[in-house]
Amino acid sequence: MRSISILGATGSVGASTLDLIAREREQWRVIALTANGNAEELARLAKQFRPEIAVLADANKLPQLRDLLAGTGIETAAGREALIEAASRPVDLTLAAIVGCAGLAPTMAAIEQGGTVGLANKEALVSAGEVMTAAVAKHGATLLPVDSEHNAIFQCLAGNQLSQVRKITLTASGGPFRTWNAEQLATATPQQAVKHPNWDMGAKISVDSATMMNKGLELIEAHHLFPVGLDRLSIIVHPQSVVHSMVEYRDGSTLAQLGPSDMRVPIASCLAWPRRMDTPCEPLDLAALGSLNFEPTDEQRFPATRLARQAAEAGGAVPAVLNAANEVAVAAFLEGRIGFTRIAAYVEETLSCYAPAAPGSLADVLAVDQESREKTRGLTESAPIA
Ligand code: NAD
Ligand code: MG
Repeated sequence: MRSISILGATGSVGASTLDLIAREREQWRVIALTANGNAEELARLAKQFRPEIAVLADANKLPQLRDLLAGTGIETAAGREALIEAASRPVDLTLAAIVGCAGLAPTMAAIEQGGTVGLANKEALVSAGEVMTAAVAKHGATLLPVDSEHNAIFQCLAGNQLSQVRKITLTASGGPFRTWNAEQLATATPQQAVKHPNWDMGAKISVDSATMMNKGLELIEAHHLFPVGLDRLSIIVHPQSVVHSMVEYRDGSTLAQLGPSDMRVPIASCLAWPRRMDTPCEPLDLAALGSLNFEPTDEQRFPATRLARQAAEAGGAVPAVLNAANEVAVAAFLEGRIGFTRIAAYVEETLSCYAPAAPGSLADVLAVDQESREKTRGLTESAPIA
């Protein structure tokens, strides 16, 4: 029996993880389940999976959670400190599946207890960069990538050495607006942006896929997880999302990982690692699919990958600024306050007006994140829609 905590249990990745856990219920002891503010859903999951503790980030919802779980013997708590305390309870595996930099402090707490962390929360690694990788090394933790591309690369690297890698290629579906021209992009609505052609995901990452910022964040994520040098990391558009990424070696061999576009595949690879487990996912039917297509990225229409690459090259606090600005701009777009193509524009504007010193600690990263948010908020409020 192994123990697991799921940070962000009520989200899309959280649900996929719990779906797999439910299929081998007897093999897992659930320690903590956390959510932002949805007390009802968290209580429902807690009754099913019987964690030691259920935690909400939103302290105002604690009375409701307490009522819902009264008499179950499941501990309840809420607020930022409670989230961090729950994440720091020793477990064999933590699934870090909170969205955004809000997941950084709990993810760091999980790393500091020295266990294995399945990382879906890419924004945490993008923002903290070396602060997180240094903590992983210091505490002897293991980071397993949940993000499908990074999980693919991780699998393609197994048994090989990074020093033998010529190139790592991240595949991108291109999102729902892959074929749209600039005029059409300017009219894109939140409803259209969250309808991803291949994946069923949370709203924020769906918008990131539509702007291609998701691939930009993933480039930075890959830069930290697989340090082969930025010049060896590339992006290719592959609309079918069947090849999840590739590693090319110096001898000319390219290894790829293929699979259905179902997050339960990479999540299962982390749950069972270094072994394998069964999943209920539809197997690939390549004959039915017929062909796999690839095309270059278009940074004219989708400037986000260029901004992310520049941020990765600059290093220091710049990726944290990029991420925070993007989170605020995406939220403003989802609320209908700014147009779709303004998301990348506000990110670029924030990067040009705010250049803090490189963070040396978690507190520094959180301060940069906070200040960047205020800058971008100021920009979106002073020049709405535009
Ligand atoms: P989601 O919006 O569906 O779920 C987010 C989870 O985080 C929820 O449980 C929510 O309650 C919690 N949360 C949100 N804000 C919070 C806050 N301020 N404090 C504490 N908890 C908070 O998101 P998702 O699609 O499951 O994505 C989660 C993470 O995984 C993201 O970083 C995303 O980029 C990454 N990811 C997701 C997918 C996918 O298929 N959904 C694929 C790859 C990577
Ligand atoms: Mg991904």
